[in-house]
Amino acid sequence: MSSENRTSVPNSLNEHWMPFTSNKDFKQNPRLITEAKGVYLKTHHGKTQIDASSGLFCNPLGHGRKEITEAVTKQLETLDYAQPFQQGFGGSFELATRISKHTPGDLNKIFYTICGSTAVETALKIAIAYHRSKGKAERFRFVGRERGYHGMNIGCISVGGMINNVKTFASVLMPGVQHMRHTHLPEHKFVSGQPETGADRADDLERIAINFGPENIAACIVEPIAGSTGTLVPPKGYLQKLRDTCDKYGILLIFDEVITGWGRTGSSFASIEYGVTPDIMTMAKATTNGVVPMGVVACRDEIYDSVMDASPMGSVELFHGYTYSGIPVAVAAALAVQDIFEKEDIFERAKNLAPYFQKGLFSLQDLESVENIRGYGMMGGIDMKLNSKPGKAGYETFKSCYEAGVNFKATGDCLIIAPQFICEKKHIDEIIDKLRTGITNYQKNQKN
Ligand code: PLP
Repeated sequence: MSSENRTSVPNSLNEHWMPFTSNKDFKQNPRLITEAKGVYLKTHHGKTQIDASSGLFCNPLGHGRKEITEAVTKQLETLDYAQPFQQGFGGSFELATRISKHTPGDLNKIFYTICGSTAVETALKIAIAYHRSKGKAERFRFVGRERGYHGMNIGCISVGGMINNVKTFASVLMPGVQHMRHTHLPEHKFVSGQPETGADRADDLERIAINFGPENIAACIVEPIAGSTGTLVPPKGYLQKLRDTCDKYGILLIFDEVITGWGRTGSSFASIEYGVTPDIMTMAKATTNGVVPMGVVACRDEIYDSVMDASPMGSVELFHGYTYSGIPVAVAAALAVQDIFEKEDIFERAKNLAPYFQKGLFSLQDLESVENIRGYGMMGGIDMKLNSKPGKAGYETFKSCYEAGVNFKATGDCLIIAPQFICEKKHIDEIIDKLRTGITNYQKNQKN
């Protein structure tokens, strides 16, 4: 079929091997999205749904933003591609300057990647390159955390802590990685915001450092709020403790802000929200409002300077990069996004809307199949009670909510809710009402 004749419903579902999907189940009863505008999606059954997770945390500015479409179109007409090695184009430098105005401390040096996973891989490599530039090649170990999600490349799943990501690929994981325990404690039941207890879980970093020799550890990587495993909000004082231990032993601290970056917490970055500055930071998703893939790594001036100083003039200082690192079309989308962030004071908007969203989210705690709720800023996680086997309750509730007209992501038995920042209160009400309907229908179906 030529692309001109393409319809929204394909003739065959057989050939596409879908990512992170129950392919067999999906192909018996497909869910196709045909249109998106603002906070709403349309399904191939012609039904309207509200987007309660900003896609995969990517579209906080809403779908179908004209400003982004126009910027991308203009860029494609002017310069569709410029190879990024040993040459460049102006836009990527302009974008780096604008991103560096938002990043905390002196994280002013910006490296472009293709997505969140490649941003994380790049951050790990930069950590290694930095220590090597200081003559410390023995610092090769990394510390990650249980229930962390950092993407799907080998480095990402090695430092990540989701068991299903690791099991199949155990034989090819990176060596020298240790994991701290996660911060979700049994007493963290229906806690909105930062839990009071659990900061001592950061002591795991010191214990690992002492066990393996702190002089061998390159970096510790965490998501400030673990997003994909259900909005695990850091206990008060936890991130600062990690920072202190890293400083004590010369370990770099990497914050993976692929989800928390660009306003999700109500500040531009979680590191700013919590007042803890990492050495390296990753971002992706909302950087382009999700419409063109792009990942970004920001690092401290000192890291860049050290890597530069270690190489003679004319040599490639960091042997790393991607065909699509900072390509014009992604940069054009990201610059348009930056304009909207400023024009609509979008982080402030997220901050102001957050209490209303959190109140709505926690109003669902009376539902009998709800095990727990957590939330911070414009992020929330609803744990469903176990239903015969892990993952079943999450998937069945997702499907029931899809029917009820609310779309989001479910990981295992957790429903991940992350509304767009352009939402008005009435949209938050609609999300919560439809979640209540979808969850209630799921409960009824279990009883029948
Ligand atoms: N890091 C975090 C914290 C994420 O949540 C994700 C994806 O959800 C990634 C990295 C990987 O990003 P991508 O899917 O763009 O590779």
